[in-house]
Amino acid sequence: MANNQDKFKQVIAHAKEYGYIFSSSEIYDGLSAVYDYGQNGVELKNNIKTYWWKSMTQLHQNIVGLDAAILMHPKTWKASGHVDAFNDPLIDNKDSKKRYRADVLVEDYVEKLEQKVQKEIAKAKKRFGDNFDESQFVSTHPRVVKYRTRSKEILERLAKSLTEENLADVKALIEELEIACPATGSRNWTDVKQFNLMFGTKMGASSESASDLYLRPETAQGIFVNFSNVQKTGRMKIPFGIAQIGKAFRNEIVARQFIFRQREFEQMEMQFFVKPGEELKWFEYWKDQRQAWHDSLGLGKENYRFHEHEKLAHYANAATDIEFDFPFGFKELEGIHSRTDFDLKAHEKLSGKKLQFFDHEEGESYTPYVIETSIGLDRMFLAVFSAALQDETLDDGSSRTVLKLPSILAPVKAAVLPLLKRDGLPEIAEQIVEDLKWDFNVDFDEKDAVGRRYRRQDAAGTPFCITVDHDTKDDDSVTIRYRDSMEQKRVKITELKSILNAELSYKTWLKTK
Ligand code: ATP
Repeated sequence: MANNQDKFKQVIAHAKEYGYIFSSSEIYDGLSAVYDYGQNGVELKNNIKTYWWKSMTQLHQNIVGLDAAILMHPKTWKASGHVDAFNDPLIDNKDSKKRYRADVLVEDYVEKLEQKVQKEIAKAKKRFGDNFDESQFVSTHPRVVKYRTRSKEILERLAKSLTEENLADVKALIEELEIACPATGSRNWTDVKQFNLMFGTKMGASSESASDLYLRPETAQGIFVNFSNVQKTGRMKIPFGIAQIGKAFRNEIVARQFIFRQREFEQMEMQFFVKPGEELKWFEYWKDQRQAWHDSLGLGKENYRFHEHEKLAHYANAATDIEFDFPFGFKELEGIHSRTDFDLKAHEKLSGKKLQFFDHEEGESYTPYVIETSIGLDRMFLAVFSAALQDETLDDGSSRTVLKLPSILAPVKAAVLPLLKRDGLPEIAEQIVEDLKWDFNVDFDEKDAVGRRYRRQDAAGTPFCITVDHDTKDDDSVTIRYRDSMEQKRVKITELKSILNAELSYKTWLKTK
């Protein structure tokens, strides 16, 4: 198995080679931390969106969708706190001239301590075998207890300094921990400074009359400002949710992790409005729901973990991250936040418009509380793609690279392959494509020997290959080959549609996996 850095390089190279992801404006040497999705990438991305959208809106009677504009009235960002507080603490290394997020440097240090803990656990597991009691081990083993206590102290101090805007203490912490520049090992740091992440732009024809706007740094505010529009026109009753997928922009300080941290990216967000006092019950509900959604894709439970926040954002009274084991370690994939009534109240105050719900049963109006689930579409793409990319050694000793994407998300569902380019086989294959293309994204592929075509489709992530051979002419049967097991079955052409339907049913995927 390739080590993590090699694996990450392999992911990036494979994503390019198979038309998933290109650097933006690559012919001009690219634009830092901005990416384009190629012919396969756009399909995978759209399929992830649909998988999320269906689960959120179609499967919940009380959740509806929205598509708000990227440009919003500038007061939106004043009310939301983004103008004053959407900052990241940055620090520069004076020798290497490299810039880092100060909080990330500290978090990475803590992650290293956690890796030591995991090593101790793995060692002990081996030693004690079936008798191993992990929870007892981590609460009593002196080294593990020391690492965990130290981590907790460090994170609490970081959270406190950031909340109090005590940037001098963040720097002091970095120095005390002897954190060095990851690129060069230098410990010659500047002071920590705050940096606002919003992109500014201008609207209007002449420079005098133009007004200053921001590209939205999150999609959530488009939902909050439309709360009353949707609630009234949709006659929605609390509890209810509004879901949205759309672009967001952040001028990230450090963006070196491919599509994990981009300056232009997409979010899939849902704001769920509840009665005040019931928010923590719904917070737990949405944690479970979102975990179940991730589980349904079968990327491996061991690749996920929950991380409760030590430092709560200014608007939250509970928050957790769903972290995924990316090729560069466990990092945030999705955030679930209990945002209280902060946003609606703030918009009410600045706009002078009421953003409340009249509860007929109680006979009173109130400002709802909000639970938010917010997942980065690009991060989900990277999670799916990196978990799917595998090198396998086969029984005959040969090897293959296979992209085991969940079939429901795969860009091309089936490739139809005539065994030879003659004897009427391509015509039959084309007819099969013609029949299937209305319901499934299918490809026709006749170049190279069939074995090579299988390998190519494996690497591109196509879950099924349908091969037409000479027998097809006599018995109207074809061979269907399964990407993951490489099993081959003989089936009638007329059965293909129902086979694919069964494999690619949203119900099966979302309900039972
Ligand atoms: P991080 O701590 O990694 O910067 P965040 O806590 O600021 O993320 P949120 O504001 O909670 O992120 O945004 C919700 C989701 O949007 C995140 O869980 C992540 O999946 C996604 N996201 C945030 N920033 C980026 C980015 N720069 N590029 C890609 N996805 C992002």
